[in-house]
Amino acid sequence: MKTVDTINFNGKRAVIRVDFNVPLNEAFEVTDTTRIRAAIPTLKKILNDGGSIVLMSHLGRPKEGPTNKYSLKHIVSTVSQQLGVDVQFADDCIGEDAFKKSAALKSGEVLLLENLRFYKEEEKGNEEFAQKLAKHGSIYVNDAFGTAHRAHASTAVIAKYFDKASKCFGYVMAGEVASIDKVLNQSQKPFTAIIGGAKVSDKILIIEQLMSKANTILIGGGMAFTFVKAMGGHIGKSLCEDDRLEVAKELIGKAKEKGVNLCIPVDAVIADNFANDANTQRVDINNIPDGWMGLDIGDKTIKTFGEIIKNSKTILWNGPMGVFEMSNFEKGTKQAAFDIAEATKHGAFTLIGGGDSVAAINKYNLASQVSYVSTGGGALLEYIEQGTLPGVEAIEA
Ligand code: AMP
Repeated sequence: MKTVDTINFNGKRAVIRVDFNVPLNEAFEVTDTTRIRAAIPTLKKILNDGGSIVLMSHLGRPKEGPTNKYSLKHIVSTVSQQLGVDVQFADDCIGEDAFKKSAALKSGEVLLLENLRFYKEEEKGNEEFAQKLAKHGSIYVNDAFGTAHRAHASTAVIAKYFDKASKCFGYVMAGEVASIDKVLNQSQKPFTAIIGGAKVSDKILIIEQLMSKANTILIGGGMAFTFVKAMGGHIGKSLCEDDRLEVAKELIGKAKEKGVNLCIPVDAVIADNFANDANTQRVDINNIPDGWMGLDIGDKTIKTFGEIIKNSKTILWNGPMGVFEMSNFEKGTKQAAFDIAEATKHGAFTLIGGGDSVAAINKYNLASQVSYVSTGGGALLEYIEQGTLPGVEAIEA
């Protein structure tokens, strides 16, 4: 994998796609700097070499062109602070002023371009637009894993205007790709995938892909109930996708064929209402009374899953085991998080990815006790489903 380490940026201007799609509050202040901080090592490497930087990113989903709410000008001071350099700003990513400013950059200087998505050409992957962006630098660096699954102008198309020696990955991209590769292609066995979350329909492809990689797939969360119903269980008013019952059956069949241990929970914590103060009880998962819904995996399942997790050498976790946002239904998710941390302590490689499992690992302060926390939920899932991403292929092509 070609990273910024393979290039000497001395006297060069790099145009870098970063993912600075950060949350802002009503006063337009950055409320979570994680994504900005993640890019700093890549930027520092280039500046330390004696290079200059043109940063490009999107922010939110502007529909109508330039909108104050989605302007990247709001983050200039935060990026400056984190980087320790006064970052300049161009209020139109391909305007005359932007090109003047990028051309005038001296070694050690940084320019941030206005939101790429103020041009609809960005998401359309428009070639002319990509070619204009490419003029901002002589080297293209992609460090935006969160958007690497999109073939947008700045994430993929732009790469064709640079020769092979003049494009590379930043450290964020490299770290993400290396960790997925470790899980998918170099996994030490036993390899356990823990898949949860609300909908089975979102996870069918990933489960199918993992069938040829993992030894065990633990199913939790709302999606488990579609499997339980598919096997003839009674699930009350638990979450269920009736149009996916056949698919669930097929997945169960495929797992048997391939010798993969597809583990469906055996018990659940059920509630008479979708609320933290609902009445609850623990029951066998295939025997949920009418009017009740399963909101977490039960103690028996937690124990079985825990033993499997702690005996694994590679773990991929995507999706919570229950409604962990409510304290009465967080036990399954919380215990999975702690078991994963424990497995990590004993030498397992553990990758956490996908919005809600990352939120869970952070909720229990365990991010530093697992091997890798992915920054790109959608991109990670798509990488596993497809085996590559447009943003990765564009650099490697
Ligand atoms: P996803 O985005 O598909 O990974 O789903 C995450 C969401 O699924 C979280 O907000 C959880 O609260 C929710 N969830 C997990 N288990 C259940 C369940 N048993 N019933 C309803 N929602 C659930």
